[in-house]
Amino acid sequence: MSVLSVKNLSVVYDGFEAIQDLSFTLEEGDYLCVVGENGSGKSTLMKTLLGLLKPSGGEIVYDNLSSAQIGYMPQQTDIQRDFPASVMEVVLTGCLKANGRFPFFRKQVKELALKNLEKVGALSLAKKCYGELSGGQQQRVLLARALCSTEKLLILDEPVANLDPKATNELYELISKLNKEQKITVIMVSHDIRCAVLQASKVLHIDKTLLFFGDTEEYIHSSEGQKFLGHEHCLCGGDR
Ligand code: ADP
Ligand code: MG
Repeated sequence: MSVLSVKNLSVVYDGFEAIQDLSFTLEEGDYLCVVGENGSGKSTLMKTLLGLLKPSGGEIVYDNLSSAQIGYMPQQTDIQRDFPASVMEVVLTGCLKANGRFPFFRKQVKELALKNLEKVGALSLAKKCYGELSGGQQQRVLLARALCSTEKLLILDEPVANLDPKATNELYELISKLNKEQKITVIMVSHDIRCAVLQASKVLHIDKTLLFFGDTEEYIHSSEGQKFLGHEHCLCGGDR
């Protein structure tokens, strides 16, 4: 069953076209890895999927899902890394519009936050200060936060950027587990293409417009895949 269809999408910033005539469809349970050079429009596409940016052409059609029901892990900035709040407070901000329904009561919200911290193996960090955590721990917490707004679709923008190889592997394992065991559809943007491709079931390669969309296996053997994989370095192993 399809989760979303992107049809002839274009996105423009002040006259600059960042996405051009892009089309693809995502099925329930897919794990899509979005790859492309810096500035190729990956983050722009994610923000448009989330409804944070408006298409200037084409459309995004969701099936049985609204953009408010997507769990989002944005690309990190240095300022966010020092965010002065407790882990629990950070996770709770993900519960604000849980499932797009009427806000939960305090107790339920807290339970949801704790349940998701447990899912990502970070329950013991609940009372810690977010800014004092390691990079890998912070990403787990942000994943728990994203899980508070969805049981269906997770969008992760460069989740392993700046993580060491061990933390990278652990985060990839966790994301794969959520995809396989909880049947959450995943869209992951990554620079780390070789590893990302090992984790994902489908690949979308863009450079403003579509270069490749299809199964991971097919991508690895395609000319686009060969070119891109050829000049990337990988620090970790995958499970496929
Ligand atoms: P990626 O995530 O693939 O590195 P982005 O989607 O962030 O790429 O950016 C795509 C292009 O759009 C880049 O050329 C970038 O400079 C431009 N861009 C991104 N955000 C804005 C913005 N808010 N205003 C104007 N141009 C932007
Ligand atoms: Mg980006």
